[in-house]
Amino acid sequence: MCAYHHVLLAVDFQPGVEEVCQRAREMTRAGSSRLSVIHVIEPMVMTPPYEGMSPLPVEFEQQMLQSARDSLQQLLDREGLADAQWTVEVGAIKWTIVGYAREQQVDLIVIGSHSRHGLERLLGSTANGVLHAAPCDVLAVHMENG
Ligand code: AMP
Repeated sequence: MCAYHHVLLAVDFQPGVEEVCQRAREMTRAGSSRLSVIHVIEPMVMTPPYEGMSPLPVEFEQQMLQSARDSLQQLLDREGLADAQWTVEVGAIKWTIVGYAREQQVDLIVIGSHSRHGLERLLGSTANGVLHAAPCDVLAVHMENG
């Protein structure tokens, strides 16, 4: 039986996402744990409009949100996770995942992890950032295809 009560799966739509989904599914399959899924959209950095340029229309953000919601639902259907509670949030990826985990009393975050080299490694990764800020356990799933 799974020792976790509330598992949070953080997904992007990059190659390898299926492995992360499957691991989250395995973690919740045996027991009575609840699964939530989050995708975060980073906000556009808005500078004051320059002459001749209009600011980004509000509809653009709405379209992006809708498109992300559709993609997430399709992914969850494909991965057999249609029953999971899911959300698409706008914010800084690391802090939004960690904040959601804290608010929703998540006790395990499942996240993908790439093997990184050079500059990417120095700058860190989402998994690394979440691991160091999370209020709970974090399972970093090594992505072969990522
Ligand atoms: P990255 O370090 O950006 O390559 O991402 C590693 C993992 O962090 C992904 O496999 C996801 O589990 C998670 N992640 C990255 N971007 C997002 C996002 N926008 N929303 C939710 N989770 C994300």
